[in-house]
Amino acid sequence: MPALTAHTRPDDSARCPCGTGDVYGDCCGPLLSQQRHAATAEQLMRSRFTAFATGDVDHALRSWHPRTSPSWRELDTSLADGTRWLRLDVLRSEQGGPFDQEGVVEFRAHAKTAQGRRVLHEVSRFERVDGRWLYVSGEVVTGA
Ligand SMILES: [Zn+2]
Repeated sequence: MPALTAHTRPDDSARCPCGTGDVYGDCCGPLLSQQRHAATAEQLMRSRFTAFATGDVDHALRSWHPRTSPSWRELDTSLADGTRWLRLDVLRSEQGGPFDQEGVVEFRAHAKTAQGRRVLHEVSRFERVDGRWLYVSGEVVTGA
């Protein structure tokens, strides 16, 4: 079955969607194209935002722990709902460094949906498996 999600790849010289201020080719680009792995949980989190923002179902899934990940079809369907991910603010990172096995990243992700603007405030948990950071789960923060 063909993918429902439209996948757009930014230019290497364009500003990275994840909001570090770096260009795509020096930021999330090499992670999405599998030239290298994320060194920290926060880098992986940023690359996942970029995957959602650009419709890269493969990277969104690849960076998800197999224990908790949806199927490719489920993820493709949910990414094709018309939501446009506009901006990421990383609020806090705990552990998630080169010598850690677990990490926590708290962020706010700004989106435009069919119902209007929306902010997803989430505390995400990451685990390192065979040297690679993977997203495990997220808890949505409400009322903040
Ligand atoms: Zn980036």
